[in-house]
Amino acid sequence: MINRLCIIGVGLIGGSLARALKAQGACGEIVGYGRDAERLDRAVELGVIDRYEMDMAAAVKNTDVVLLAVPVGSMQSIFEAMAPHIDATTVITDAGSTKASVVAAAKRAFGEVPANFVPGHPIAGTEKSGVEAAIDDLYRDRRVILTPLATTSATATDTVRRMWEAAGAQVELLEVKHHDEVLAATSHLPHMLAFALVDALAKMDEKAEVFRYAAGGFADFTRIASSDPTMWTDICLANREALLHAMRLFSDELGELGAAIEIGDVDRVRAIFERAKSARDGFCEKLNYAKE
Ligand code: NAD
Repeated sequence: MINRLCIIGVGLIGGSLARALKAQGACGEIVGYGRDAERLDRAVELGVIDRYEMDMAAAVKNTDVVLLAVPVGSMQSIFEAMAPHIDATTVITDAGSTKASVVAAAKRAFGEVPANFVPGHPIAGTEKSGVEAAIDDLYRDRRVILTPLATTSATATDTVRRMWEAAGAQVELLEVKHHDEVLAATSHLPHMLAFALVDALAKMDEKAEVFRYAAGGFADFTRIASSDPTMWTDICLANREALLHAMRLFSDELGELGAAIEIGDVDRVRAIFERAKSARDGFCEKLNYAKE
């Protein structure tokens, strides 16, 4: 049980955690912090947070846990603002989609990465953003990755683990670098593909026709291109190296497929599709996901 939780950035991710913990009675008071009083008023009105502060010292005072749920490019300024005010006993965690950049931001702001900072990333979300989109079951049966360092307090890691478990999530630990490589391939690359595909089609002369005849598969594949552009600009620049590596691998694969189509190599084309189908069917079965 957390007595007081402070959520910095009460949007989809922070708001959904607040809703989940409230639904489970796993948290005493939830205090929001942000820059926009109107949006924070709305968060109180919706019952997502109990109250809010726009002054950092007041926001983090006497809190058990502080969660940073702002875009990754804003993490450093938030760490800098909280550094003079945070109690040594307060556990700090974040929900940022990249981990090395957030750990580096904490190090720059605090001088060294605090032992009570537990980097984290919920593998859950939608293309929607803002507190209105926050729901109490966003994390149910979803994974949350924590990337504690060798210097991170085991007690702090345990507190954050229990917080996410109370929200319904399964918590796993990964190394920072490993997290960023895996997520570059499984999340960041697909977002780049969706953004690039829709942008390319939108530039075509006959774009009205293209979107008019786009069917369900197109909507499914491109859903994530409706994600927040600011958040994704931050993510792809923060995880640049791993993402570029994944983009190059993908580009090579697309080149191979294009070359096989060009020369009408039926066997090669079919072999690529068969490998892909069998890989996807395999992981869907393993993870018990719907294939459609
Ligand atoms: P969101 O836009 O819904 O919420 C972000 C909130 O932070 C907003 O309320 C915004 O006003 C506030 N904010 C932004 N900059 C701020 C600043 N400098 N100071 C104070 N408040 C600020 O975004 P989200 O989807 O909740 O994403 C939050 C974090 O979670 C990001 O780091 C993102 O990478 C990560 N994340 C997102 C998803 C997803 O699918 N949306 C999934 C996992 C992790």
